[in-house]
Amino acid sequence: MTRALRDRTYATFEGGKSASSLEGLCKGLLAEQRASWPELRQAYDSLRGTRYRDMACNGFSVRLLFNPGRAVNTTAAVSPEEIRERPCFLCVANLPAGQRYILYRREFLILGNPRPVVPFHLTIAHLDHQPQAIAGHMEAFLRIAADLGPGFTTLYNGPRCGASAPDHLHFQAVPSGQMPIEKEIDGTKGSTLPSLTAGVSVFRMAGLGREIILIEGGDARPVADAFEHYVRALKDGLAPPGQPGEEPMLNAAASFDGKTWRLLVFPRRAHRPAAFYRKDDGKVLVSPAIMEMAGVIVTPAERDFDRLDAGAIESLYREVSLSHD
Ligand SMILES: [Zn+2]
Repeated sequence: MTRALRDRTYATFEGGKSASSLEGLCKGLLAEQRASWPELRQAYDSLRGTRYRDMACNGFSVRLLFNPGRAVNTTAAVSPEEIRERPCFLCVANLPAGQRYILYRREFLILGNPRPVVPFHLTIAHLDHQPQAIAGHMEAFLRIAADLGPGFTTLYNGPRCGASAPDHLHFQAVPSGQMPIEKEIDGTKGSTLPSLTAGVSVFRMAGLGREIILIEGGDARPVADAFEHYVRALKDGLAPPGQPGEEPMLNAAASFDGKTWRLLVFPRRAHRPAAFYRKDDGKVLVSPAIMEMAGVIVTPAERDFDRLDAGAIESLYREVSLSHD
């Protein structure tokens, strides 16, 4: 380990029976960072002013979030040119002064997300600067969910549908139970899809306003295999416009209750609704990523927080979700 890496290491996690709980380490890291790193303290102070509005839509519900301390008129752009011109904020060499992390299984850095949407929001960045892609990393994604325990849900944004750093592999994690979809799938009857993987169940959820695939199983490797099988089928049959070889647009969320992994996949057809690009009063500044697909809709503009209604949310989901019909 280089000296720079060691100095910023709050803790290391290698697993094993004698290991401290990862959830406890993460909460300790966030408490330490809020005390010692002004940027995170300010972000959490601003988070306290977050307003929310719950909205019943046709068959599902959403929670709109507006943080007056973080209101913006424009939003971060992630074009290839802009990415090339900025130093990567997830590379260990470029982390802001004051930011520390948990070194996770010698492969990932667990960091306090400096722009938390909810309290205890974590960013989980790979040690190496490599493109955001889920292929070959789903098992690690599931492993992190299990190591964090049932109190946390891990999140993935595809490189063209919500990832803030498409050039650096990363996940997020948030406390479980805050995203409406987590409860809604329990009461929903999905249709069973054929699973080519023993011990894994695959469902297509119905009536929740957007396409959702649920993959469940008691072992990480078969769940990851079933996911990769689904992604290949998406690529072959329903590939949205993109670069050849690029993964189909999707967001994912995983949790582990001690016995079973539950993996939710949201296939996408568009990154943002057409209204996002409007120049007039009809502009809607919502940029759907995994939290939005799971029912937590961040509205950076107060105007959208006030005026979005159930019909607007339903059509937003229809526009960005990839329907199998
Ligand atoms: Zn990087």
